[in-house]
Amino acid sequence: MDEVDLLYQEVILDHNKNPRNFGELDDATHQAVGHNPLCGDHVEIFLKVNDGKVEDVKFKGVGCAISKASASIMTTVLKGKTLDEVKDLFQRFHNVLTSKAEEPVNTEELGKLAVFAGVREFPVRVKCATLAWHTLIEAIEKKNSVLTVE
Ligand code: ZN
Repeated sequence: MDEVDLLYQEVILDHNKNPRNFGELDDATHQAVGHNPLCGDHVEIFLKVNDGKVEDVKFKGVGCAISKASASIMTTVLKGKTLDEVKDLFQRFHNVLTSKAEEPVNTEELGKLAVFAGVREFPVRVKCATLAWHTLIEAIEKKNSVLTVE
């Protein structure tokens, strides 16, 4: 597959065009801003944690299709998860994106996030796909902050 086929699958294009959970959360308990200067992606994550679990999450931002779709899909898989489960899921996602292209991907474990597995063949785009996640983790760890992904 070429880059366009791998990166711009239908589900990615759909989330880019119609991002889910797009906007701000007035009652967010955690919030962070992330930048990816390499691509110009910018994302702001609003997270509401209640009793150790993600009750709600929204995002705002501008950027390439990969970064926007990744943030959008991320918001659809977090609700109801504990913060440890969220970190664990990010770790698995990150491991796949930084693995070698010939290594098998456990798509079952990744669920909806598996659509980004092809991104690992294009290292410069990995930061686009992980920006929202890095920003989310930053929000969880630091509550309010600005993050630049180098
Ligand atoms: Zn990007």
